[in-house]
Amino acid sequence: MTDIAPARTGAANAAVKHEIYWRETEPVTPGPPLRGEVTCDVCIIGGGYTAMWTAHFLHKADPRLRIHILEADYAGAGASGHNDGFVTPTIGHSLGALVHRFGAERAKLAYAAVGKSMLELNRFCVKNEVDAEFESAGYYQVAAGPDQIRLLERDLDLAARLGAQSGLDLLDRERARERIDSPAIQAAVKVGGALINPHRLARGLFRTVTAAGIAVHEQTRALSVESTAVGHVVRTPHGRVTATTLLYATNAYQHQFAEFRRKVVPVWSYAAVTRPLTEQELGAVHWPEREGFVEAGNFIVFGRLTAGNRLLFGGGRAHYRFRRDMDVPRHIDNPRATETLRAVLARYFPAWREVPFTHTYGGCVAITREVVPHIGALGDGRFYAHGYCGNGIALTHTAGKALRDLILDRDTSYSNLLFVRGKEKPFPPEPLAFLGAGAVSNLLAAQDRHPGLIRRQLV
Ligand SMILES: Cc1cc2nc3c(=O)[nH]c(=O)nc-3n(C[C@H](O)[C@H](O)[C@H](O)COP(=O)(O)OP(=O)(O)OC[C@H]3O[C@@H](n4cnc5c(N)ncnc54)[C@H](O)[C@@H]3O)c2cc1C
Repeated sequence: MTDIAPARTGAANAAVKHEIYWRETEPVTPGPPLRGEVTCDVCIIGGGYTAMWTAHFLHKADPRLRIHILEADYAGAGASGHNDGFVTPTIGHSLGALVHRFGAERAKLAYAAVGKSMLELNRFCVKNEVDAEFESAGYYQVAAGPDQIRLLERDLDLAARLGAQSGLDLLDRERARERIDSPAIQAAVKVGGALINPHRLARGLFRTVTAAGIAVHEQTRALSVESTAVGHVVRTPHGRVTATTLLYATNAYQHQFAEFRRKVVPVWSYAAVTRPLTEQELGAVHWPEREGFVEAGNFIVFGRLTAGNRLLFGGGRAHYRFRRDMDVPRHIDNPRATETLRAVLARYFPAWREVPFTHTYGGCVAITREVVPHIGALGDGRFYAHGYCGNGIALTHTAGKALRDLILDRDTSYSNLLFVRGKEKPFPPEPLAFLGAGAVSNLLAAQDRHPGLIRRQLV
């Protein structure tokens, strides 16, 4: 990736809200907290996509199961409700990294499972009347220079080895610009996928699972877990749940539990959203199918239009903060990240460079040491899933099926996917984790600047 020179902020950034844009598209009044004692079959901590898909698939498999979800805030308050809405087949960091680590055959099986989830997501929304503003045009992986073109060629070769259907085609500059007329785009490859409103997907999923009889207790933080002879006991501020099976589904927050303290770290990723473009502004850039785009590289930058014709840009350098700091009020605003994103907007769409941002915000992506998700069992009726590494919309749907099969003790293709029951390497303790993250981040940024000099697969 080419280095992005921070642009001056100036008037274009006046009156920016440091709040998650998506939340404005459907206001939420969280439900009441759990009060009293509950005994059930399955208790799930966390109320995001992982929790709700797992509950959904468990309920479909066995409607008699009594399932209770505990969510500290409201269902979808975490990454599920404020991601950037790119429904991607990506597992972990990239296809290249996955093939490098697991081999072509296992990578192919995993990609096929996630590809199926992408299709089923849309069907789920239609069937359950979830208006997640699904746009199935997908997105392009784009190259902004010759080094990135080589990355696209490498990914195309890999996809061919994995038996990808024909149609994956490297579009040269002219053909790419017939799709998205940006002077920054030098080449592009169409990736299957979709764009959604993540918050509305989360809230639609919440309505669907609660209508099916699954209890979702919002404003109910799990304070402690104790494994006893009668089951796993989860204490909450006003109550207690005792369950035979427990699922930890808090992803980037998972490190709060001692078992996962060093297995997953939260890394901040930022986004900026403009006001809606006017008809006249929209007419200034040829972008007929409204696909998203993602620049090739370690630290990706990406852009898309929302259903309401706002531009959303995200990405840039990711930040791990000392001791897994996820303090939203302190870090939701990151002026340097905003400047970077404004520079990306100007580089991609000079005609829109003065369109003001109305929202800039950050959220935490969950990263594991191997940069692949991990789904598994602790062996005593406790299960976990975490580490989607910024690509979790479709993957959490697949994870829900894998967790269903692990919990019901079924040996299936899902319970044997490459990210299920794998060995997990821990991160080092602090301050080594912080220092190590900084060093790796510098190395990845250097590789983006000089891919010819650092050819090794770093992540
Ligand atoms: C900024 C950002 C952009 C992203 N963009 C994309 C994208 O474009 N495409 C894509 O595929 N993926 C993207 N992702 C990743 C994707 O959003 C996640 O992988 C996915 O949402 C993970 O879902 P989850 O349910 O596992 O976790 P979450 O949605 O984070 O849910 C965990 C929940 O646990 C709750 N919780 C935490 N602690 C407790 C506790 N003690 N008790 C009870 N509840 C608790 C939290 O409040 C939270 O709601 C992005 C992520 C971020 C942060």
